[in-house]
Amino acid sequence: MNCESAALLTELAAEVRACRHCAAVLPLGPRPVIRVSATATVLIAGQAPGTKVHETGIPWNDPSGDRLRRWLALDRDVFYDESRIAILPMGFCYPGRLPKGGDAPPRPECAPLWRDRLLRLMPSITLTLLVGSYALNDTLGRGPMTDRVRAFRRYLPDRFPLPHPSWRTTAWERRNPWFEAEALPALRSAVAITLNASPLRSPRSPRR
Ligand code: SF4
Repeated sequence: MNCESAALLTELAAEVRACRHCAAVLPLGPRPVIRVSATATVLIAGQAPGTKVHETGIPWNDPSGDRLRRWLALDRDVFYDESRIAILPMGFCYPGRLPKGGDAPPRPECAPLWRDRLLRLMPSITLTLLVGSYALNDTLGRGPMTDRVRAFRRYLPDRFPLPHPSWRTTAWERRNPWFEAEALPALRSAVAITLNASPLRSPRSPRR
């Protein structure tokens, strides 16, 4: 990545942050929440911001983020070091709620408009964490989430499939003990190798 490309990424990220493409249908208005850099080696591809993330402008700044950091055994300092970890959800703005509850899907306009253009300017990414069904389906094609996650070894070393770390995943984790026993150690190892560092914190340690 040369200086010119890094400058292009900075320019494009500024363009994204000013995006109002689907302002008319976003209940809280546009507030794209992304973290990008030319040097990041790990990409977290999630779903879309929730209300707390929308309010703060900080991705994964909610209980789902706490659970994801526990899975990764990373503290907030490393998780939010965008020179090492990029964060691009499938939709960059809070999409609202579904009539029957739960967050609406990521805005479908967003990924085709922005994601590939951003990713082309981030050639250092070598490991992508596909977090939740929207990222899994977009990258791997439609399929059952649990099967994808259980087959995590098939996608290494460049991708790692994960469920969305919302509170609903608590019951899923109980039903799938292999996730804690096999997938999480492999996840932590893949991330540590990619970041060229050991996991900084045991998952049982107090979190910040
Ligand atoms: S969701 Fe994406 S396309 Fe829509 S306003 Fe936000 S950044 Fe723009």
